[in-house]
Amino acid sequence: MKWRIWLLFVCITVASAVLFGVGAARVRYKSTVEDGKVYLRTYMNAYDSDDYSFDREGAVAFSEKLNGVRVTFALADGGVVADSAADNIIENHADRQEFIDAAQSGEGYDVRSSSTLGKRMLYYCKSVGDGKLVRIAIFVDSDWLSFFKVLPSIIPFVAVMALACVLATVLTTNFIVAPVKDLAKEAVDGEMVTSEFDELKPIANILNERNRNLRLQMEVIKTEKKEIERARESKDEFISNVTHEMNTPLTSIRGYAELLSVGGLAEEQKTVAYKTIAAQSERLANLIACIINYSAIDSDDLPSYDVDFSSLAREILQALEPEARERNVEIIEKIDDGVVLSSRAERLSEAFGNLTRNALKYNKDGGRVVVTLTKDYLSVEDTGIGISEENKRKIFSRFFTVDKSRGGKNGGFGLGLAVVKKICVKSGWEISVESKLGEGSSFTINFNPQKKK
Ligand code: ADP
Repeated sequence: MKWRIWLLFVCITVASAVLFGVGAARVRYKSTVEDGKVYLRTYMNAYDSDDYSFDREGAVAFSEKLNGVRVTFALADGGVVADSAADNIIENHADRQEFIDAAQSGEGYDVRSSSTLGKRMLYYCKSVGDGKLVRIAIFVDSDWLSFFKVLPSIIPFVAVMALACVLATVLTTNFIVAPVKDLAKEAVDGEMVTSEFDELKPIANILNERNRNLRLQMEVIKTEKKEIERARESKDEFISNVTHEMNTPLTSIRGYAELLSVGGLAEEQKTVAYKTIAAQSERLANLIACIINYSAIDSDDLPSYDVDFSSLAREILQALEPEARERNVEIIEKIDDGVVLSSRAERLSEAFGNLTRNALKYNKDGGRVVVTLTKDYLSVEDTGIGISEENKRKIFSRFFTVDKSRGGKNGGFGLGLAVVKKICVKSGWEISVESKLGEGSSFTINFNPQKKK
């Protein structure tokens, strides 16, 4: 930008110098002509027809009297009689302006290049009576010559002007460029920039917009990074939990298998060993099934369809009846007819089955489970052992079980509620829990979270 301003100033300086020179030359030329006219008129006053014969001799004599000024004698019809500058001129000057004017009004002037002498001349012609015209002429400088003659006198002035322009350029470029530099520096630092100059305000707006977009992009990148980090941690934690859960039955199976292989066990001990191996193998198989099921839900992208949830819920409760009887827990159904949800039967069975089985598992002898289903929500209430405030926040995490020994007894791995939560999130539903230790719990799935129940 600086060099552009420099170039502009240099062009202005050169153009002004040339214009100034031309103007000065023009003024000089005009004043030379005007002064010349005054001289020629004064010279002409020295002419007396009695003193100079109207021939070449007279013309040369008059010219000498005027210090060599060119003198031409002519007749009113323009015919040249004599010329002090050239011998034997037989010309007709009737077409020359000064002769025309002199013949008409007594005197006339003209400035032009002389065809006789080949130089620029100022002519003054005067009628001296008896049809005679006397013309005297002096050399004048041409426009160009005037220009070159004034050049030496204007060079110092142009030099001073150029110097002033250079100084002005340096000062103004710094003055003009400084706010732009400041703006750029502030913008690079990521600050919100403003400018008191109207011309720079659009640039400031663009810089602010660009910085804002950059900040947003940085935020997105940070969030993505955090999510990737969280996913990595979650995967590590999952693997570690799976390993841990598998370790217990495997250790037990290996221990008993080694004991059996060593031999020497009593029949009773052998039976315990076989039973334990069988039970732990089943637990291991259950764990693997649970993990496969959990992972399958993660990658479940199958399309949803309308499912008659009312019928499905009744069927599942029917199937749970024997377990409820065994646990001496009463199931109370409050299921509305025709509750249809856009989902998949296996997802709904999984979520509903997990909630109701938990309500039975973590219930008390002689307890109750109330299942309420409307088109807006499902709630599974029980009068069981309840969940502490602290654990309420953790129960939806993978592999979380409140009481490991109880979990073991119930065969749970802490994946049931995690699966329910995952299904809810995928379906856009909201799951919540209310509970009091020792009194019971109530799990609710809201099918329309936007429209609170
Ligand atoms: P699990 O397979 O151990 O049942 P869940 O994910 O289904 O795993 O449940 C996690 C934990 O939450 C359970 O171990 C249990 O302690 C607690 N829990 C779940 N449902 C209930 C309930 N209805 N009443 C009391 N505690 C419950």
